[in-house]
Amino acid sequence: MRKKVIAGNWKMNNDLSESQNLVSGIISGLGNDTKCDVIVCPPFTSLSEVNTLIKDTPVKLGAQNMHYEDSGAFTGEISNSMLKSVGCEYVIIGHSERRTIFGENDEMINKKNKKALESGLKVIFCIGESLEQREEGITNEVVKKQIVNGLMNVTPDDLMNIIIAYEPVWAIGTGKTATPEQAQEVHSFIRGQIENIYSKESSENLQIQYGGSVKPENAATLLSQPDIDGALVGGACLKADSFLSIIASA
Ligand code: PEP
Repeated sequence: MRKKVIAGNWKMNNDLSESQNLVSGIISGLGNDTKCDVIVCPPFTSLSEVNTLIKDTPVKLGAQNMHYEDSGAFTGEISNSMLKSVGCEYVIIGHSERRTIFGENDEMINKKNKKALESGLKVIFCIGESLEQREEGITNEVVKKQIVNGLMNVTPDDLMNIIIAYEPVWAIGTGKTATPEQAQEVHSFIRGQIENIYSKESSENLQIQYGGSVKPENAATLLSQPDIDGALVGGACLKADSFLSIIASA
């Protein structure tokens, strides 16, 4: 039975004191008894402090992005060892905002996935179709290409350190959520692709999160679908109460 995993992507929100307040609220509401994995992904500037605050709690730390080189002349970028040095266990790779606003393509995302895994970070690997692609009826084709390219040369052992987040771009930050049936259909397709590339065992162990306007009101029905193993939450993770309520649904 796969464990559910709820991750909060804070995006470019929360300065240091706001980050301290948010994570403190999450920790105190959560207690020590969580049945699912809980990950918070604050901005880089808050990682170190949040890491201190989550010590001895069930909350795990993730970053929102990472460069694929170890070091060098890459102004404004951040490396795997920098993230690990401030306590990150996870890193989000290939978020649609990175793909669309910052021009990240499948090749870069594949390099990032491989570098993160090689360095011992776990990856939340984001994929998903745009509204035009859904309307054109090519959702499966798009998602398949993102999986094949993004996971190129990722070994079955490394796959165990990947969570796939299916995030239809049209549902991110828009208030429009995929119906549980729409999401389940794509999640099941994704699991099938992983079985084709790797094995049945790999596909059955893989955690696949849904992301796109997950809120306390819709979390339970989404999370009750057989192939939805958690949620990557944007807007609704910025208030401790709503994030805690989504965790409770899981
Ligand atoms: C996200 O950024 O990964 C996301 C799912 O955002 P939101 O929940 O706000 O749609």
